[in-house]
Amino acid sequence: MKTFSKSAGAETVREVVCALCGGTDLKRWRGSLFVKCAGCGLVFQNPQPVEDELVERYDEEYFRYEAANEAQFHGLMELGLRDVGFDDVERGLPAGRSFLDIGCATGMLLSTMKRRGWREQGVEVCRPAAEYGARERGVRIFVGTLDRARFPDRSFDVVHCSHVIEHLTDPRAFVREVARVLAPGGSFIVTTPNVDGFQSRLFRSQWRSLIPDHMYLFSRKTLRRLLEESGFRILRGKTWGGLAVGTAPKPIKAAADRLAKRLNFGDVMIYRCERRSERAVPAGAR
Ligand SMILES: [Zn+2]
Repeated sequence: MKTFSKSAGAETVREVVCALCGGTDLKRWRGSLFVKCAGCGLVFQNPQPVEDELVERYDEEYFRYEAANEAQFHGLMELGLRDVGFDDVERGLPAGRSFLDIGCATGMLLSTMKRRGWREQGVEVCRPAAEYGARERGVRIFVGTLDRARFPDRSFDVVHCSHVIEHLTDPRAFVREVARVLAPGGSFIVTTPNVDGFQSRLFRSQWRSLIPDHMYLFSRKTLRRLLEESGFRILRGKTWGGLAVGTAPKPIKAAADRLAKRLNFGDVMIYRCERRSERAVPAGAR
């Protein structure tokens, strides 16, 4: 079963070039809304809705989906954080450390971090979700996109975004903005579906992440390139998820999940990277 998505609506769409290499040699991919760049392998929706209209998809219905699944998503985020050594990051930072969760939905992870002594800040385009989080959990959430928040330079020790980067129209600008608001040596932790994983290859056009709400589908290679070109050094990376719930009997799913993690061809990937110091960023990447 595919992930929840709004259907491609009546938005204004535009043709785009490859966000990673600028390539224009694009081949239709799996007969879908997506194309694959012949130059670098990036898979993305083309044409794409424009951002101002795209954010309108994150409405009351989206909030209900997030609210209904928040405990499950929170559990997965905690497992992912453990996988990339977040506990070590936490131990290494003094009191007053700050955690930015972009696409924080109903603010459940922010609430956990606040309890653990972090100064929490969320960013969320879905207004009902953000307002719910602020009201019910007492966490700080900016309603809108990251660039609109205009956080000062070097504001955060950790920036986290789970299942967000694939929804954006300009992931390169986003990652650069993350680098700007992150303290030097700070950690950026990013989770997104893995287009090169076993499930994607098995289910082809029926892959659960091949949905209209996803603008970009990264592989380990294309995501690493984007991060490295934007001023980050990758410290840890993991993939997980062999078969989705309901696609196979439990013992087979359990075995597939273990194998996917061990062989690193899981359905979802997470990277923890560190913001390089100013001097180490290549001129062309800034
Ligand atoms: Zn490309």
